[in-house]
Amino acid sequence: MKRNVDLNEISDGKFYSLNDMVRADCQDCTGCSMCCEQMSDTIFLDPLDVFRLTRATGCSFDELLDAKKLELALADGIILPHLQPDRRTGFCPFLSAMRCSIHASRPGFCRIFPLGRYYEDRSFSYILQTKECPKKRTKIKVSRWIDTPLLAQNQAFINDWHYFLEDLSAALASAPTDTVRRVQLYLLHSFYRTAYTATDEAGFYAEWRERLAKARTLLG
Ligand code: SF4
Ligand code: SF4
Repeated sequence: MKRNVDLNEISDGKFYSLNDMVRADCQDCTGCSMCCEQMSDTIFLDPLDVFRLTRATGCSFDELLDAKKLELALADGIILPHLQPDRRTGFCPFLSAMRCSIHASRPGFCRIFPLGRYYEDRSFSYILQTKECPKKRTKIKVSRWIDTPLLAQNQAFINDWHYFLEDLSAALASAPTDTVRRVQLYLLHSFYRTAYTATDEAGFYAEWRERLAKARTLLG
C-alpha cells in the first residue's frame, strides 16, 4: 500500500540493503508488545503471509475471515486482506500474553519491523523507521533481522507482487466500475481464497509464480 510521507520525518534518511548493518534489533521485544496492541488496520497481507497463516493455524482463508482474524479492505483500488484488530481492545488477534502466538509464521510487515520498504525504479530498499519503537536498539545485519528463509526468492516475490499491484492499481484507476469489481474479485480468489497446494515455501513461490503469469495474461 502506498504511503505519501517525507522519508526524513519517519526514518534516519538512509537506504539499507540485505548486507548492511542497521540499528533495528529490539532484543526480541522483551517486555513490550506495544506494536501488536496498537496496530490498527495497517497490516496488509500478501499471498505468502496468508499461505503461512493458513498453515500455522490450520484454517482456510475464509475461516480466518469468519473468525475475525482477517478483514478485507480497499488499498489503492484493490481489495486486500489485513489483520483485524480486536474492535474493543485494538489488539492483534494473534497476540497472546504479550507475545505473538504465530511468531514463526508472522506476516512480513511484522517480521521486518521497525524496518520498512521503500519502492523506487521497479526495485526496493529497506528504511529504518525511527519514530515507532522507543526501545534502545542495537545493530544487526538486515538479512538476519528479516529472518526469512529462501531470501533471494522472497525478495523477488516481494518486488514482483508490489509492482504487479501497482501496475494493476494504475490500470484500474481509469477502468469502468464493473471491470474494477471483476478484477478485484478475481485477484482475491486467485491469490488468496484458492488454497495453495504447496507444502513448503519453495513450492509456494513456484505455485504463486504460475498464478501471477496467468493473471498477467488474463489481465493484459
Ligand atoms: S515498540 Fe519496539 S519493543 Fe515494543 S513491540 Fe514494538 S518493536 Fe517491539
Ligand atoms: S501477527 Fe504477531 S507480531 Fe504481528 S501484530 Fe500480530 S501479534 Fe504482533
